[in-house]
Amino acid sequence: ATPTAIMVGTGLGAKRGVLFKNAMALEASAGIQTVVMDKTGTLTKGEPEVTEVITAPGRDRHEVLRLVAAVERESEHPLAGAVVRHAEAHAVGPVRARRFENVPGHGATAVVDGHRVAVGNLRLAEREGVFLGPLAARRDELAATGRTVVIAAVDGLAAALIAIADAPRETSASAVHELHALGVEVVMLTGDNRATAERIAQRLGIDTVIAEVLPGDKAATIVELQRGGRKVAMVGDGVNDAPALAQADLGIAIGAGTDVAIETADLVLMRSDPLDVPTALRIGRGTLRKMR
Ligand code: ADP
Ligand code: MG
Repeated sequence: ATPTAIMVGTGLGAKRGVLFKNAMALEASAGIQTVVMDKTGTLTKGEPEVTEVITAPGRDRHEVLRLVAAVERESEHPLAGAVVRHAEAHAVGPVRARRFENVPGHGATAVVDGHRVAVGNLRLAEREGVFLGPLAARRDELAATGRTVVIAAVDGLAAALIAIADAPRETSASAVHELHALGVEVVMLTGDNRATAERIAQRLGIDTVIAEVLPGDKAATIVELQRGGRKVAMVGDGVNDAPALAQADLGIAIGAGTDVAIETADLVLMRSDPLDVPTALRIGRGTLRKMR
C-alpha cells in the first residue's frame, strides 16, 4: 500500500481502538482467510464463576472446598481465582498447601493437611489414576451445558466436581457472523474440554473447534492451519497465546489481555471487543484497495 493509504488505514483503526503496530500488520489484515480465536478471555469475558459444587457420596462439601481452595490459592490460573472466591464466600478458612505443583494444561497438585490434593481437568484425573465412578455422568452433563468442570481428588479418590461458567462476551456471536459474511473461516482454539468448548462454539455459530490443546501446542496448531499457504490470524489474551500470536500471519491481542500477548501481537484491540476483529479486516481490505 502507498504510505498515504497506510497512514489513513492506521489512523482509521486508531480512531476505533484498533491499533495496527506497523504497515505490515495493516497489509496482512487484508489477506486473512482464517481467524482463530482463543476461548477463555477472548470469546468469553474471562470472569469465571463457580456455579455448582457436587461432592462424591460421603464427602463433606465444606471440607473438600477447604482442601481445594488451599491448592488453588497457590495457582495463577483464572479458574483457580474462581474457586478461591467461591470458597471464601462460603466462609472456608485458609489452610496452607505444601509442595504445590502447577501442571500446565492440566491443573495443580499439592499436599494439604497431609492429604494429596489434585485439582484440574479429566486429563489430570487420568494422570493421577483417579476413578470418577458415579461422578462421571454428572461431569459429562455439566460439560455439555458449556461449563468447565474441574475435578477435585483427595488421596487419589474423586471428591468433588466444581462447575465453572464463563459467559461469552456480548458481541462474540456478531463478530463470528460478520467474519463469516466477509468470507472468513472462524476456528475456536482452547485448552478446555471438548464438550464444553463445542457447546459454547455452537452458541456463537463457530463450526470448527480445536479443543484440549496443551499450552505448548497452540503455535503448532496455527502452523497446521497455515498449510497450503492459508493466511491465518490468531486472536488471544493469555500468556499461553503468545507463541500462537507470533506464529500467525496476523497476531491480534485483546487489550485487556496480558502484557506478553499485547507485546507479541501485530494488532491490539483496545476495547477488547471481538467485533473489532472484522472491523480490522475491513480496514485492511480498504487500505489495500486504495493502493491498486
Ligand atoms: P484454557 O485457559 O484455554 O482453558 P489451560 O491450558 O490453561 O487452557 O488449561 C486447560 C484446562 O486445564 C482448563 O480448562 C482446566 O480444565 C484445567 N486447569 C488448568 N489449571 C487449572 C487450575 N489451577 N485449576 C483447575 N483446573 C485447571
Ligand atoms: Mg485466554
